[in-house]
Amino acid sequence: MSKLIQDIEQLAIIANQLEPTPRTRNQQLEQLQQFANQFISSIPQSKAYFGGNSAPEQFVIDEQPKSLESLLNTYKSQVAQKGINAASSGHLGYIPGGSLFTAALGDFIVDISNEYAGMYYGSPGAVAMEEAVLNWMKSVFQFPKSAIGNLTSGGSIANLIALTAARDHHGIKGDLIEKSVVYLSEQTHHCIHKAFRIIGLSDIQIRHVPINDRFKIIPEKLNAKIEQDRNDGLNPFLVIASAGTTDTGAVDPLQAIGAIAHKNQLWYHIDAAYGGFFMLVDSKKHLFEGIDTADSLVIDPHKSLFLPFGIGAVLVKDRQAVFQSNHYRPNYMQDAFSDDVLINPADVSPELSKHFRGMRIWLPLQFHGLAPFKACLEEKLLLTQYFREKLIAAGFSVGPEPDLSVSYFWYPSKTIDQNAFNQSLLNYIHQDGRVFMSSTIIQGQFVIRMALLAFRTKLETIEVAMKMILAAKKKVENDFK
Ligand SMILES: *Cc1c(COP(=O)(O)O)cnc(C)c1O
Repeated sequence: MSKLIQDIEQLAIIANQLEPTPRTRNQQLEQLQQFANQFISSIPQSKAYFGGNSAPEQFVIDEQPKSLESLLNTYKSQVAQKGINAASSGHLGYIPGGSLFTAALGDFIVDISNEYAGMYYGSPGAVAMEEAVLNWMKSVFQFPKSAIGNLTSGGSIANLIALTAARDHHGIKGDLIEKSVVYLSEQTHHCIHKAFRIIGLSDIQIRHVPINDRFKIIPEKLNAKIEQDRNDGLNPFLVIASAGTTDTGAVDPLQAIGAIAHKNQLWYHIDAAYGGFFMLVDSKKHLFEGIDTADSLVIDPHKSLFLPFGIGAVLVKDRQAVFQSNHYRPNYMQDAFSDDVLINPADVSPELSKHFRGMRIWLPLQFHGLAPFKACLEEKLLLTQYFREKLIAAGFSVGPEPDLSVSYFWYPSKTIDQNAFNQSLLNYIHQDGRVFMSSTIIQGQFVIRMALLAFRTKLETIEVAMKMILAAKKKVENDFK
């Protein structure tokens, strides 16, 4: 035998450890199954927030192999039991994501077969499945079939793709940048500002359109601002509305803003990362009237479709504008191109190799059907109402009637500084940890936010939250005595 073959065989003996035997695979799957079942069944008893823990220290990579059991134990203690438990029924902070079991099954299968979802040539099935998911979204949001879309890692990258298209459609470059104007509200998500910096538009003019007392853009003010800027020789090119702001869940008047944007020939972008899929709920449909007039739209299935983190979506009507930055034909990929196939996801996004995200949304949607998703969204809306009623009955003040499932409250202490009181209240809520909530500042006032979007949040969650809040309030009152 040649030396070369001998060496290869020697190496293969070691390298083959990367492919566990069927017996080992079964053992590993069993351990995983146990872990998953134990994790999910313990959610009702476990905390939504593990505050005050020391920083995780056990991830240092050394060269020695370890047992799966010990690694899962490390995961449990150093990952799953630190910070926010984002799979918990009690996660009411920021904008919760979900963690549907069926989505995890989809991810597992995708990782096993490792489909290459960047190019149609590599995996026509994967690309067609993602296209079907995007087509479904187009039908939900009444976008034309000719619109182009992409399943991204989340809302931030989805917004980045949409804003890049807006930039290229209007040819915003060189000397034009400083004269170009975007209209948005101060409630717009900060990832939009990040996107402007990333795509070379940090020097554009940003106009904050005034909002009303429900945090919604006042369309008449938008019109006036655009006219003013035109008269001043500037170049208005983009209007951004939110369908569900992060802070308060407000849906801007989409139709009226769209009409003004189009009358002025501006690109109309809607960020519906949080709120988008509430359009599936009949009682909320009216809020989304005009969403179909957007030139580009962002929605986050890892928020309002209860999927695990790692999936956002963007729809854009003008394909050429999206292609301008993302379409590329490298020589080494010449085999992969043909004009009569579906669009390559790689031509719509900065990603080339990408996670095949379509499966983690297609599988749950097809397996469960749409009804449980709609019911779960509507349940969150009613729970929000219920929670607010409970808070009011217990002497708390609450923000205005919310459009969706984000609201806020504070205790209107007469004797103690209100901001100090509520900050301290939140600290005790965090210390307790059964239900996690975050805070924000509304018109200079410290308030506690409640964002109901975790699919496991139920009536019982609200009862626990109320008990926790009242116990925390007692502690604050004692402290200030
Ligand atoms: C969450 C959110 C984003 C950012 O999306 P990620 O998925 O976190 O990247 C953008 N806009 C709004 C309104 C959001 O709620």
